[in-house]
Parts: sequence; C-alpha cells; structure tokens
Amino acid sequence: MPKREIINPFNQAIIAKLDDATEEEARAAVLAARAAFDAGEWPQWTGPRRAALLRRVAELLVRNKSDLARWETVDTGKTIVESEIDIDDVVSVFRYYAGLAEQDHTRTVDVGPNVVSKVVYEPVGVCVLITPWNYPLLQASWKIAPALAAGNTMVVKPSEVTPMTTIKLVELIEEAGVPAGVVNLVLGAGPEVGPVLTSAPEVDLVSFTGGLSTGQSIMRAAADTVKKIALELGGKNPNIVFADAPFEAAVDHALTGVFLHAGQVCSAGTRLIVHADLHDEFVAELVRRAETIQLGNGLAPDSRSGPLVSAEHRAKVERHVAQAIVEGATLLTGGRRPDDPNLAAGFFYLPTIFDNCRRDMSIVQEETFGPILTVETFTEEDEAVALGNDTDYGLAGAVWTADRERGRRVAGRLRHGTVWINDFGPYVPQAEWGGFKRSGIGRELGPSGLAEYQEAKHVYENTDPQPENWFA
Ligand code: NDP
Repeated sequence: MPKREIINPFNQAIIAKLDDATEEEARAAVLAARAAFDAGEWPQWTGPRRAALLRRVAELLVRNKSDLARWETVDTGKTIVESEIDIDDVVSVFRYYAGLAEQDHTRTVDVGPNVVSKVVYEPVGVCVLITPWNYPLLQASWKIAPALAAGNTMVVKPSEVTPMTTIKLVELIEEAGVPAGVVNLVLGAGPEVGPVLTSAPEVDLVSFTGGLSTGQSIMRAAADTVKKIALELGGKNPNIVFADAPFEAAVDHALTGVFLHAGQVCSAGTRLIVHADLHDEFVAELVRRAETIQLGNGLAPDSRSGPLVSAEHRAKVERHVAQAIVEGATLLTGGRRPDDPNLAAGFFYLPTIFDNCRRDMSIVQEETFGPILTVETFTEEDEAVALGNDTDYGLAGAVWTADRERGRRVAGRLRHGTVWINDFGPYVPQAEWGGFKRSGIGRELGPSGLAEYQEAKHVYENTDPQPENWFA
C-alpha cells in the first residue's frame, strides 16, 4: 500500500509519510485492547497508581511542549501560539483526571440493618476513541485521559488529515509506563478503518468527535451490539449582542469567536444576532477589524490566523459561500481566497461576513466550519432567544448585555450545552462540555467526562441471610 502523505496546509509541503492500518491491523488493535482488558494487569491497577501514570504523561507533555506545538502547527495550520495554548490545556486535562482517579468514588447506600450496599464505578472496557482534525491533541486528551483514569483499554483513531501529535502522545503514554495493549493507535481513513472499529463486537464504547453525518453513521454501526456511545458533533452557535453590551469587549470577542483558527472550531460564534439599534456600528467595526486579520504561516510570529485544513475543506466552505449569495445574503467582506501570492500555496480563505441573513438560509443553519460570520438582527429579547435556539444544534452560545438579570435570564433559556455571558469561548477541564440536540450525546470534561467511561455497579451484601418463605 502506498504511504499516506501528511501535508502542511500552509504550503502543501509533505511533513510525514505514514502507513495506513489495514483492516486486519485495525482488528488486531481491537483484539489487543480486549486482551489487555480481560487478562492484563491494567484493570487491577489502583486509582492512585493510574493517577501517577497520568501525572507522568502530563510531565512528559510539558517537557515536549515546543516539539508538540510545532507539529500541531505544521499539521493543522493553526498559529504556534494557539498550539502552545492547546498543549497547556492538554496538560491540565491529564492533571485534572489524575486528581479524579485518585479519589474513591464508591457510594454507600443506607439500606438498613444487616445490609451493606455499595455503588462502585468500574471501567466500561474497550473504548474506541475517534478524533477530528481541528484540535487533534486536545480532543484526543479529552477522551484518552478520562478513559485511562477510569481503567479502560482503548483504540485511538486520529483523523487521517492530522495524526502527528496523536502519534506523539501515544508514544509519551508508553514512555510513562502504560502496560502493553492498553493504548492502541490505528491510523488511516475514517471510512475505511472506522467501521472495523465501531462495529467490532469486542468494543464496549465508542467516543467520537466530528461531523454530524459521520456521527449518525457511527450510531448505526454501534447499534447492532448496543455499544455505549458518546458524540460531539459540532454546532451553529449564536452570539447574541444586546444594545447595552460592552462595545469594545463584545466586538473583540465576536471577532475572535468566529475567526480564531479560521473558524474551524466546533463552538465558533458563527451566528451574530445583534440588536437592531447597535447593528450598523457593530457590524461596521467587525468588518473593519476582519479586514486587518493577518493571515499567514502558523509558525510566523505575526500571523494571527492560518489556512483551512485541506483543499477539500476549503471547497466545502466555498460551496457554502456561493449558496449564501444565491439565497440572498449580503456579502460585506471576504467571500474569496486572498490575493497575496505568499499565501497561494496554502488553503487560505478570507474572513467573510454576510449581513441580512435569515434563519431559513443554509449558511445560517449548516455547519460550515470556516471563517464565515452571518449577521441577523432582533429587537425583542424573546426574538433573540428564539433565533438563538432556532438550530438543530445545541453546543454553545453567548449573550452580551450590561443587564446582569437579562444575561442570566437569556442564558437560562438558550438550549445549548455551554452558554457564556459577556464572554466567548472559555472552557475549563472541571466543567462539562457537550451538546444539546444534534450536537451530540454525553459530555466530555468535568466529572461527567469520567462517568462516560465508567459503569456503575451496585453490590448488595446481606450480612445476616434468612429465608424469605415467599413460596413456602
Ligand atoms: P469527520 O466527521 O468525517 O471526521 C472526524 C473523525 O471521524 C476523523 O477521525 C475521521 O477520520 C473519522 N471518520 C470518518 N468517517 C468515519 C467512519 N465511517 N467511521 C468512523 N470514523 C470515521 O469530519 P470531516 O473531516 O469530514 O469534517 C466534516 C465536517 O464535520 C466539518 O466540515 C465540520 O462541519 C464537522 N466537524 C466537526 C468537528 C467538531 O469538533 N465537532 C471537528 C471536525 C469536523 P478521517 O479524517 O481519517 O476520515
């Protein structure tokens, strides 16, 4: 089989040549994970011992930070500063789950005399962890760290487009001392090796982050053997700005919220829903600033945004933009590739803003995953909430207002898994992340992110057994 070429989306330089796994190799990875779970030492490790391993991984990540950040940048195109922030976050995630692994989560239930009733939390078993190309290392850590903390074995399948830092992470986990067979890496194209993993009867859980239609196909593949599934499927996230919003902060965050990482962020604030009184001033300022965003090589210190991840992905963004124009959206800026010849070899696309958008337009409803902002207006609070909820997705949203009561009221009414008030984008390992509606099933991060990888078992012990004589 020819080697797969991994390219830098900034200039299409080949950064690595890798072998895809064959179907037999993918199958062997599942069987290795099964054997390590059923017969290996790993599930017998105590929580504190697993925690120590996670902390060693965190230390190795810190030690290898600059190397990892560089790989993440040349693989995804994102700026080196963003890659460094990602690595810091990954370290925090491993440390957070080390902390949870150290704790005994056993719950004792008071049933009365002569009974000891305990709920214990055990690993689910063999987990298949499938990650996307936009935050390769970060998304891998959100799955691998809690799966290890809970005592599972696993098969990890990164995106074929951006596998480099996941390969490195698995090496570091091995260096930290994880037993053989616990963490197995499978490279290759999702449509080819994916179904081998997601339909394998030896697999107990599939955790996936990526696009909606892939998530739906994974649900179908997992159904036959009733696997547990966890899905994070992106969003179409509203950013609601009232007329009394703190102008400078709201403009700044609206810009970053949608154009960071060229919009390839599941929680990107792609739908600006702005009060009619503020619309003109706010949108004019956004356009002005969008036109000054410095696109470039992620490794160059003055670049503020890199290219899109691939030619295929840019083609999708271009199709969405063309459709928006057909449907009557007003193009204010962008809508094309940049003219700069220095960017011609990369998959760049200009930050793009559409005004006069309506909720029935496909650019407002479908996830583009590119640097595209749509603008809708409202006059009443109820209208803003209705617009903010008028999406099949439900991952994240924000509300900007000087009225704290109103901010909390609107946050309470938005049907999204994360809502920011007067902010956009922050997340912390301690707090759950995930989606309502078609944004997914389950939660990552926080205690729920560990619970995804655990089975609760009730152990009921009768300390004074007596006959019941029900049928006597
Ligand atoms: P996919 O959903 O296809 O990719 C996500 C992961 O799933 C990758 O590892 C991919 O592998 C794998 N995969 C693909 N097909 C299968 C399958 N049949 N069984 C198992 N695994 C599979 O995302 P795309 O790259 O196609 O992007 C499509 C859209 O998804 C984007 O435009 C964006 O809208 C959305 N998206 C959302 C993300 C999020 O964070 N929620 C992240 C990325 C994309 P491989 O890459 O090797 O094919």
